[in-house]
Amino acid sequence: MMKKIAVLPGDGIGPEIVAQAVRVLRALEPHGLKLEMVEAPVGGTAYDLTGDPLPRATLDLARSADAILFGSVGGWQWDTLPRDKRPEQAILGLRKELALFANLRPATIYPELAAASTLRPEVVSGMDVLIIRELTGDIYFGQPRGLRTNAAGEREGFDTMLYAESEIRRIARVGFESAMKRNRRLCSVDKANVLETSQLWRDVVTETAREFPQVELSHMYVDNAAMQLLRNPRQFDVIVTGNMFGDILSDEASMLTGSIGMLPSASLNADRRGLYEPIHGSAPDIAGRNIANPLATILSAAMLLRYSLDQDGFARRIEAAVSGVLQKGLRTGDIADKGQAVIGTREMGDAVVAALG
Ligand code: NAD
Repeated sequence: MMKKIAVLPGDGIGPEIVAQAVRVLRALEPHGLKLEMVEAPVGGTAYDLTGDPLPRATLDLARSADAILFGSVGGWQWDTLPRDKRPEQAILGLRKELALFANLRPATIYPELAAASTLRPEVVSGMDVLIIRELTGDIYFGQPRGLRTNAAGEREGFDTMLYAESEIRRIARVGFESAMKRNRRLCSVDKANVLETSQLWRDVVTETAREFPQVELSHMYVDNAAMQLLRNPRQFDVIVTGNMFGDILSDEASMLTGSIGMLPSASLNADRRGLYEPIHGSAPDIAGRNIANPLATILSAAMLLRYSLDQDGFARRIEAAVSGVLQKGLRTGDIADKGQAVIGTREMGDAVVAALG
Protein backbone atom coordinates (compact mmCIF):
# COMPACT_ATOMS: atom_id res chain seq x y z
CA MET A 1 0.00 0.00 0.00
CA MET A 2 1.20 3.51 -0.85
CA LYS A 3 2.40 5.41 2.24
CA LYS A 4 2.60 9.17 2.47
CA ILE A 5 5.72 10.86 3.80
CA ALA A 6 5.81 14.56 4.64
CA VAL A 7 9.31 15.78 3.79
CA LEU A 8 10.23 18.89 5.82
CA PRO A 9 13.86 19.86 5.10
CA GLY A 10 13.93 23.07 7.19
CA ASP A 11 16.93 25.35 7.55
CA GLY A 12 20.73 25.35 7.39
CA ILE A 13 22.06 21.95 6.30
CA GLY A 14 18.48 20.53 6.47
CA PRO A 15 17.79 20.65 2.71
CA GLU A 16 21.18 19.11 1.81
CA ILE A 17 20.93 16.16 4.17
CA VAL A 18 17.23 15.48 3.63
CA ALA A 19 17.81 15.40 -0.14
CA GLN A 20 20.22 12.48 0.38
CA ALA A 21 17.76 10.59 2.60
CA VAL A 22 15.03 11.08 -0.03
CA ARG A 23 17.36 9.69 -2.71
CA VAL A 24 18.02 6.62 -0.56
CA LEU A 25 14.27 6.04 -0.06
CA ARG A 26 13.64 6.52 -3.80
CA ALA A 27 16.35 3.99 -4.58
CA LEU A 28 14.31 1.37 -2.70
CA GLU A 29 11.19 1.95 -4.81
CA PRO A 30 12.23 -0.42 -7.61
CA HIS A 31 12.55 -3.07 -4.86
CA GLY A 32 8.90 -2.69 -3.87
CA LEU A 33 8.76 0.24 -1.45
CA LYS A 34 5.74 2.40 -2.30
CA LEU A 35 6.02 5.97 -1.08
CA GLU A 36 4.38 9.28 -1.89
CA MET A 37 6.79 11.98 -0.69
CA VAL A 38 5.47 15.54 -0.42
CA GLU A 39 7.77 18.41 0.55
CA ALA A 40 6.82 21.53 2.54
CA PRO A 41 8.66 24.41 4.20
CA VAL A 42 9.24 24.50 7.97
CA GLY A 43 11.21 26.57 10.47
CA GLY A 44 12.95 29.81 9.52
CA THR A 45 12.54 29.07 5.82
CA ALA A 46 8.78 28.81 6.32
CA TYR A 47 8.76 31.99 8.39
CA ASP A 48 10.49 33.86 5.55
CA LEU A 49 7.89 32.59 3.07
CA THR A 50 4.71 32.87 5.15
CA GLY A 51 5.43 34.63 8.47
CA ASP A 52 4.88 31.38 10.36
CA PRO A 53 7.52 28.71 11.21
CA LEU A 54 4.80 26.03 11.04
CA PRO A 55 2.38 27.19 8.32
CA ARG A 56 -1.12 25.71 8.22
CA ALA A 57 -0.42 23.85 4.95
CA THR A 58 2.70 22.22 6.43
CA LEU A 59 0.81 21.17 9.55
CA ASP A 60 -2.05 19.76 7.46
CA LEU A 61 0.43 17.81 5.36
CA ALA A 62 2.13 16.46 8.52
CA ARG A 63 -1.26 15.44 9.93
CA SER A 64 -2.25 13.61 6.78
CA ALA A 65 1.07 11.74 6.42
CA ASP A 66 2.03 8.32 7.77
CA ALA A 67 5.39 9.77 8.81
CA ILE A 68 7.45 12.95 8.69
CA LEU A 69 11.04 13.12 7.53
CA PHE A 70 12.45 16.24 9.16
CA GLY A 71 15.81 17.94 8.60
CA SER A 72 16.56 20.63 11.16
CA VAL A 73 15.49 24.16 11.94
CA GLY A 74 17.12 27.30 13.27
CA GLY A 75 19.74 29.88 12.41
CA TRP A 76 21.14 33.17 13.62
CA GLN A 77 18.97 35.22 11.23
CA TRP A 78 15.84 34.17 13.17
CA ASP A 79 17.28 34.35 16.71
CA THR A 80 15.84 37.80 17.43
CA LEU A 81 12.25 36.98 16.43
CA PRO A 82 9.59 36.83 19.13
CA ARG A 83 9.50 33.37 20.74
CA ASP A 84 6.31 32.24 18.97
CA LYS A 85 7.83 32.97 15.53
CA ARG A 86 11.17 31.23 16.11
CA PRO A 87 12.01 28.19 13.97
CA GLU A 88 12.12 25.86 17.03
CA GLN A 89 8.39 26.50 17.52
CA ALA A 90 7.80 24.32 14.48
CA ILE A 91 9.11 21.23 16.28
CA LEU A 92 7.25 22.03 19.48
CA GLY A 93 4.08 22.63 17.45
CA LEU A 94 4.40 19.34 15.55
CA ARG A 95 5.04 17.43 18.79
CA LYS A 96 1.96 18.96 20.36
CA GLU A 97 -0.38 18.74 17.36
CA LEU A 98 0.53 15.14 16.57
CA ALA A 99 0.74 14.09 20.25
CA LEU A 100 4.26 12.70 19.78
CA PHE A 101 4.88 11.28 23.24
CA ALA A 102 7.66 8.76 22.63
CA ASN A 103 11.16 9.82 21.70
CA LEU A 104 13.45 7.06 20.42
CA ARG A 105 17.18 7.68 20.23
CA PRO A 106 19.53 4.90 19.29
CA ALA A 107 23.19 5.35 20.24
CA THR A 108 25.21 2.97 18.16
CA ILE A 109 28.96 2.70 17.87
CA TYR A 110 30.17 1.67 14.45
CA PRO A 111 33.42 -0.31 14.86
CA GLU A 112 35.15 1.97 12.34
CA LEU A 113 34.28 5.07 14.43
CA ALA A 114 34.99 3.71 17.92
CA ALA A 115 38.04 5.97 18.25
CA ALA A 116 35.73 9.04 18.10
CA SER A 117 34.26 8.19 21.51
CA THR A 118 35.52 9.82 24.67
CA LEU A 119 35.55 6.33 26.20
CA ARG A 120 38.24 3.74 25.50
CA PRO A 121 37.40 1.68 22.38
CA GLU A 122 37.36 -1.58 24.40
CA VAL A 123 34.64 -0.16 26.69
CA VAL A 124 32.48 1.38 24.01
CA SER A 125 32.86 -0.93 21.02
CA GLY A 126 29.71 -2.91 20.39
CA MET A 127 27.54 -0.34 22.17
CA ASP A 128 24.06 -0.37 20.62
CA VAL A 129 21.46 1.07 22.94
CA LEU A 130 18.04 2.51 22.17
CA ILE A 131 16.87 5.12 24.67
CA ILE A 132 13.13 5.72 24.81
CA ARG A 133 12.15 8.93 26.54
CA GLU A 134 8.61 9.96 27.42
CA LEU A 135 8.17 13.37 25.86
CA THR A 136 4.95 15.03 26.98
CA GLY A 137 4.68 14.55 30.75
CA ASP A 138 6.78 14.57 33.94
CA ILE A 139 8.21 17.53 35.81
CA TYR A 140 8.55 19.55 32.57
CA PHE A 141 4.77 19.85 32.22
CA GLY A 142 3.27 18.96 35.66
CA GLN A 143 1.09 21.54 37.41
CA PRO A 144 1.29 23.41 39.68
CA ARG A 145 4.59 25.09 38.97
CA GLY A 146 5.84 28.56 39.60
CA LEU A 147 7.76 31.04 41.64
CA ARG A 148 6.49 32.43 44.92
CA THR A 149 7.63 34.10 48.10
CA ASN A 150 7.34 31.97 51.22
CA ALA A 151 6.28 33.02 54.72
CA ALA A 152 9.87 33.93 55.59
CA GLY A 153 9.98 36.34 52.64
CA GLU A 154 12.33 34.15 50.63
CA ARG A 155 11.75 33.36 46.93
CA GLU A 156 10.94 29.72 46.08
CA GLY A 157 10.68 27.88 42.78
CA PHE A 158 8.61 24.71 42.46
CA ASP A 159 7.62 22.15 39.81
CA THR A 160 5.46 19.06 39.95
CA MET A 161 6.65 15.63 38.85
CA LEU A 162 3.49 13.90 37.70
CA TYR A 163 2.64 10.85 35.62
CA ALA A 164 -0.78 9.28 35.10
CA GLU A 165 -0.92 5.52 34.88
CA SER A 166 -2.08 5.65 31.23
CA GLU A 167 0.91 7.82 30.27
CA ILE A 168 3.31 5.32 31.83
CA ARG A 169 1.60 2.32 30.26
CA ARG A 170 1.70 3.73 26.71
CA ILE A 171 5.41 4.59 26.86
CA ALA A 172 6.15 1.22 28.52
CA ARG A 173 4.42 -0.49 25.59
CA VAL A 174 6.62 1.42 23.13
CA GLY A 175 9.58 0.15 25.17
CA PHE A 176 8.47 -3.47 25.07
CA GLU A 177 7.49 -3.33 21.38
CA SER A 178 10.86 -1.80 20.49
CA ALA A 179 12.67 -4.46 22.52
CA MET A 180 10.74 -7.08 20.52
CA LYS A 181 12.24 -5.60 17.33
CA ARG A 182 15.76 -5.81 18.85
CA ASN A 183 17.35 -8.11 21.44
CA ARG A 184 14.31 -8.38 23.72
CA ARG A 185 15.85 -6.77 26.80
CA LEU A 186 14.24 -3.71 28.38
CA CYS A 187 15.67 -1.70 31.27
CA SER A 188 13.25 0.73 32.93
CA VAL A 189 15.00 3.65 34.60
CA ASP A 190 13.44 5.50 37.56
CA LYS A 191 14.17 6.83 41.03
CA ALA A 192 11.70 4.60 42.88
CA ASN A 193 13.78 4.67 46.09
CA VAL A 194 12.94 8.36 46.52
CA LEU A 195 10.02 9.44 44.32
CA GLU A 196 6.35 8.42 44.51
CA THR A 197 5.98 9.10 40.77
CA SER A 198 8.78 6.62 40.13
CA GLN A 199 7.18 3.99 42.37
CA LEU A 200 4.04 4.18 40.25
CA TRP A 201 6.22 4.13 37.13
CA ARG A 202 7.90 0.92 38.30
CA ASP A 203 4.58 -0.74 39.22
CA VAL A 204 2.93 0.08 35.88
CA VAL A 205 5.96 -1.00 33.82
CA THR A 206 6.02 -4.28 35.76
CA GLU A 207 2.29 -4.81 35.10
CA THR A 208 2.75 -4.05 31.40
CA ALA A 209 5.51 -6.67 31.20
CA ARG A 210 2.81 -9.37 31.45
CA GLU A 211 1.74 -8.46 27.90
CA PHE A 212 5.28 -9.13 26.64
CA PRO A 213 6.50 -12.41 28.16
CA GLN A 214 9.32 -12.72 25.60
CA VAL A 215 10.98 -9.51 26.83
CA GLU A 216 13.38 -9.63 29.78
CA LEU A 217 12.60 -6.60 32.01
CA SER A 218 14.99 -5.05 34.52
CA HIS A 219 14.77 -1.87 36.62
CA MET A 220 17.58 0.56 37.41
CA TYR A 221 17.81 3.77 39.43
CA VAL A 222 18.71 6.76 37.27
CA ASP A 223 21.94 7.58 39.13
CA ASN A 224 23.15 4.03 38.60
CA ALA A 225 22.04 4.13 34.93
CA ALA A 226 24.14 7.26 34.37
CA MET A 227 27.17 5.40 35.78
CA GLN A 228 26.49 2.12 33.99
CA LEU A 229 26.31 3.90 30.62
CA LEU A 230 29.91 4.97 31.19
CA ARG A 231 31.10 1.76 32.87
CA ASN A 232 29.64 -0.82 30.51
CA PRO A 233 27.28 0.57 27.85
CA ARG A 234 27.13 -2.81 26.10
CA GLN A 235 24.90 -4.21 28.87
CA PHE A 236 21.89 -2.25 27.54
CA ASP A 237 19.54 -3.09 24.69
CA VAL A 238 16.52 -0.79 25.21
CA ILE A 239 16.12 1.75 28.03
CA VAL A 240 12.71 3.29 28.76
CA THR A 241 12.40 6.27 31.07
CA GLY A 242 10.54 9.49 31.88
CA ASN A 243 10.98 12.88 30.30
CA MET A 244 13.63 14.41 32.57
CA PHE A 245 15.75 11.30 33.14
CA GLY A 246 15.52 10.54 29.41
CA ASP A 247 16.56 14.05 28.47
CA ILE A 248 19.81 13.62 30.39
CA LEU A 249 20.56 9.96 29.66
CA SER A 250 19.91 10.23 25.91
CA ASP A 251 22.39 13.09 25.60
CA GLU A 252 24.92 11.18 27.68
CA ALA A 253 24.54 8.09 25.49
CA SER A 254 24.75 9.98 22.21
CA MET A 255 27.92 11.78 23.27
CA LEU A 256 29.52 8.39 23.97
CA THR A 257 29.39 7.67 20.26
CA GLY A 258 31.36 10.84 19.55
CA SER A 259 29.67 11.40 16.18
CA ILE A 260 26.77 13.84 16.20
CA GLY A 261 26.40 13.48 12.43
CA MET A 262 25.59 9.76 12.77
CA LEU A 263 22.65 9.71 15.19
CA PRO A 264 19.00 9.47 14.14
CA SER A 265 15.87 9.88 16.25
CA ALA A 266 12.15 9.27 16.14
CA SER A 267 9.19 10.81 17.98
CA LEU A 268 6.07 8.65 17.84
CA ASN A 269 2.41 8.98 18.74
CA ALA A 270 -0.14 6.38 19.80
CA ASP A 271 -0.84 5.37 16.16
CA ARG A 272 2.92 4.93 15.63
CA ARG A 273 2.95 7.83 13.21
CA GLY A 274 6.05 9.84 13.84
CA LEU A 275 8.59 12.51 13.13
CA TYR A 276 12.07 11.32 12.18
CA GLU A 277 15.08 13.61 12.37
CA PRO A 278 18.81 13.64 13.03
CA ILE A 279 19.68 14.62 16.62
CA HIS A 280 21.93 17.43 15.45
CA GLY A 281 20.78 20.94 14.59
CA SER A 282 20.89 22.98 11.40
CA ALA A 283 24.66 23.57 11.58
CA PRO A 284 24.55 27.04 9.96
CA ASP A 285 28.36 27.17 10.14
CA ILE A 286 28.64 24.55 7.38
CA ALA A 287 25.35 25.02 5.49
CA GLY A 288 25.34 25.11 1.68
CA ARG A 289 28.89 23.79 1.30
CA ASN A 290 28.18 20.12 0.58
CA ILE A 291 30.23 19.03 3.61
CA ALA A 292 27.52 18.03 6.14
CA ASN A 293 27.22 14.37 7.07
CA PRO A 294 23.88 13.06 5.76
CA LEU A 295 24.10 9.68 7.53
CA ALA A 296 22.07 10.65 10.64
CA THR A 297 19.22 11.70 8.34
CA ILE A 298 19.57 8.60 6.16
CA LEU A 299 19.44 6.49 9.35
CA SER A 300 16.37 8.49 10.44
CA ALA A 301 14.72 7.39 7.19
CA ALA A 302 15.57 3.78 8.15
CA MET A 303 13.87 4.31 11.53
CA LEU A 304 10.85 5.75 9.71
CA LEU A 305 10.56 2.57 7.69
CA ARG A 306 10.90 0.38 10.80
CA TYR A 307 8.64 2.17 13.27
CA SER A 308 5.93 3.92 11.21
CA LEU A 309 5.79 1.78 8.06
CA ASP A 310 6.62 -1.63 9.57
CA GLN A 311 9.20 -2.21 6.84
CA ASP A 312 11.98 -3.68 8.92
CA GLY A 313 13.58 -5.36 5.91
CA PHE A 314 14.09 -2.10 4.03
CA ALA A 315 15.27 -0.41 7.26
CA ARG A 316 17.94 -3.07 7.73
CA ARG A 317 18.99 -2.67 4.12
CA ILE A 318 19.67 1.04 4.64
CA GLU A 319 21.52 0.38 7.92
CA ALA A 320 23.64 -2.30 6.26
CA ALA A 321 24.43 0.10 3.40
CA VAL A 322 25.59 2.75 5.91
CA SER A 323 27.81 0.19 7.67
CA GLY A 324 29.13 -0.84 4.26
CA VAL A 325 30.23 2.66 3.26
CA LEU A 326 31.95 3.16 6.62
CA GLN A 327 33.75 -0.17 6.22
CA LYS A 328 34.95 0.99 2.81
CA GLY A 329 36.57 3.96 4.57
CA LEU A 330 34.26 6.62 3.12
CA ARG A 331 34.00 9.62 5.47
CA THR A 332 32.58 13.12 5.63
CA GLY A 333 34.81 15.64 7.42
CA ASP A 334 33.15 15.27 10.84
CA ILE A 335 33.93 11.55 11.13
CA ALA A 336 37.27 11.43 9.32
CA ASP A 337 40.51 10.64 11.12
CA LYS A 338 43.43 13.01 10.62
CA GLY A 339 44.79 12.63 7.10
CA GLN A 340 41.88 10.45 5.93
CA ALA A 341 40.29 11.34 2.56
CA VAL A 342 36.99 13.17 2.86
CA ILE A 343 33.92 13.11 0.61
CA GLY A 344 30.98 15.53 0.38
CA THR A 345 27.32 15.28 1.36
CA ARG A 346 26.12 14.28 -2.11
CA GLU A 347 28.95 11.81 -2.62
CA MET A 348 28.07 10.14 0.70
CA GLY A 349 24.47 9.88 -0.55
CA ASP A 350 25.76 8.35 -3.82
CA ALA A 351 27.79 5.81 -1.83
CA VAL A 352 24.83 4.72 0.31
CA VAL A 353 22.57 4.41 -2.75
CA ALA A 354 25.23 2.31 -4.47
CA ALA A 355 25.66 0.11 -1.38
CA LEU A 356 21.92 -0.67 -1.28
CA GLY A 357 22.58 -3.08 -4.11
P1 NAD B 1 24.29 21.87 15.67
O1 NAD B 1 23.96 20.46 16.00
O2 NAD B 1 23.58 22.46 14.52
O3 NAD B 1 25.86 21.99 15.40
C1 NAD B 1 26.85 21.68 16.38
C2 NAD B 1 28.20 21.42 15.68
O4 NAD B 1 28.13 20.15 15.02
C3 NAD B 1 28.52 22.45 14.58
O5 NAD B 1 29.90 22.67 14.55
C4 NAD B 1 28.09 21.76 13.31
O6 NAD B 1 28.81 22.17 12.17
C5 NAD B 1 28.33 20.29 13.63
N1 NAD B 1 27.37 19.41 12.93
C6 NAD B 1 26.08 19.26 13.25
N2 NAD B 1 25.50 18.41 12.38
C7 NAD B 1 26.47 18.02 11.51
C8 NAD B 1 26.48 17.16 10.38
N3 NAD B 1 25.39 16.51 9.95
N4 NAD B 1 27.64 16.99 9.72
C9 NAD B 1 28.75 17.62 10.12
N5 NAD B 1 28.80 18.45 11.18
C10 NAD B 1 27.67 18.65 11.88
O7 NAD B 1 24.02 22.71 17.00
P2 NAD B 1 24.10 24.29 17.24
O8 NAD B 1 25.24 24.88 16.47
O9 NAD B 1 24.05 24.46 18.70
O10 NAD B 1 22.74 24.85 16.66
C11 NAD B 1 22.58 25.41 15.37
C12 NAD B 1 21.11 25.71 15.13
O11 NAD B 1 20.38 24.47 15.12
C13 NAD B 1 20.47 26.57 16.21
O12 NAD B 1 19.61 27.49 15.59
C14 NAD B 1 19.69 25.58 17.05
O13 NAD B 1 18.57 26.17 17.67
C15 NAD B 1 19.25 24.59 16.00
N6 NAD B 1 18.93 23.23 16.50
C16 NAD B 1 17.88 22.62 15.88
C17 NAD B 1 17.53 21.33 16.26
C18 NAD B 1 16.41 20.67 15.51
O14 NAD B 1 16.03 21.11 14.44
N7 NAD B 1 15.84 19.59 16.04
C19 NAD B 1 18.27 20.65 17.22
C20 NAD B 1 19.37 21.30 17.82
C21 NAD B 1 19.69 22.60 17.43
